Amino acid sequence: MAAEFKKIQSTGKMKGLMGKYFTELMGEEPTGRKMAWCTSVGPAELLRAMGFDVYFPENHGAMLGASRMATDLIPLANAHGFSPDICSYLTSDIGAYLKGVSPFQKLGLGVPPKADVLVYNTNQCRDVKDWFQFYAREWDVPCIGIETPRSIGAVDETIVQAIAKKTEALIEPLEAVCGQKFDIDKLREVVGLSKECTRLWKAVLQTAATVPTPLTFFDGTVQMGPAVVLRGTQGAVDYYEMLLAELQQRITDGVAAIEGEKHRIYWEGMPIWGKLRDLSTQFMELQTAVVASTYCNSWVYEDLDPADPFVGMARAYSELFICRSDDYKEKYMLEMIEKFSIDGVVYHDAKTCPNNSNNRYDLPKRLETKTGKPFVVINGDLNDMRLYSDEQSRTNIEAFVEQLAGA
Ligand code: SF4
Repeated sequence: MAAEFKKIQSTGKMKGLMGKYFTELMGEEPTGRKMAWCTSVGPAELLRAMGFDVYFPENHGAMLGASRMATDLIPLANAHGFSPDICSYLTSDIGAYLKGVSPFQKLGLGVPPKADVLVYNTNQCRDVKDWFQFYAREWDVPCIGIETPRSIGAVDETIVQAIAKKTEALIEPLEAVCGQKFDIDKLREVVGLSKECTRLWKAVLQTAATVPTPLTFFDGTVQMGPAVVLRGTQGAVDYYEMLLAELQQRITDGVAAIEGEKHRIYWEGMPIWGKLRDLSTQFMELQTAVVASTYCNSWVYEDLDPADPFVGMARAYSELFICRSDDYKEKYMLEMIEKFSIDGVVYHDAKTCPNNSNNRYDLPKRLETKTGKPFVVINGDLNDMRLYSDEQSRTNIEAFVEQLAGA
């Protein structure tokens, strides 16, 4: 009998929560609040505390990828002047804007909401700022943000204080847009909720350290939705409490996400949104569980601190894997390989996201030498499926799992 996906029961609740959020942002009823666009690791807590509706275009980028709309839309942005080699979230999102289409329309909603202000943090890449500046020019609205250093070794006080100051400097221009005075107590409250969301999301991801795992990376790419777009809200906290309880029950009952789990994989790099179903099916058929990833852990911010919110946000958002040095990345992955009992690592080399493709500077070889765990590189992209070969990836994954079986 063919293997089957084990449905996570809480998912229905999550879909309801996400649906409510999108409907509030894009539905016919105006919320009366100003609209801020925010990068996925931007100062969302500050924007929520100041009473903005907060929209995350990278989430839209991922939806364009998952719905396989992206590949046809990217050329529109290319024709407008954005290179095919830059972030395909950016090019697919701008392509969708130019064409006036969105996966939201299939949900009975319109196209993404127009921003009153766009707020970025370049901790992940420069592309997010360029992306936001396009819309700022289109709509003649402010685009403001935080420039974080890249390739950070230790996140020291010099960096933390500088980023905290830059974050505080956003208050004045944001007050000018929303017409409300900043309230530090409101920020403390939102940061407290965000921290709790992070704690629970981390605990959810850590259930996958159990053998057999109750949760895969592919489940994680769906379940992470509230951690990305609803952190700082009670709804996200309530949802992850529920999901964590379900996964803990799975562990108690010995329920495995992958029946007959034989091998455990770490996924390094961006998801391949248009191929998640194909890849998760292939791994399931090979009785191989992808149990951990850098990507899903990118929304764990342990240093958020309601008592010192600006410093906490600065530290948390500068400690991201993506803006760290290779020495740090190597150390982080060594710990993850150990903690999750990993047998091998899959690196996704995403053509249009060098920022999140960590196979390019010898990291896989160094880790293989230190751990004895083999690796394979899958060439592809997060959204542009012209850069991905089904056949080649299938064959490479098959050969890799055979190698693990013979190890
Ligand atoms: S990190 Fe990569 S995928 Fe994300 S916005 Fe930047 S270039 Fe795009």
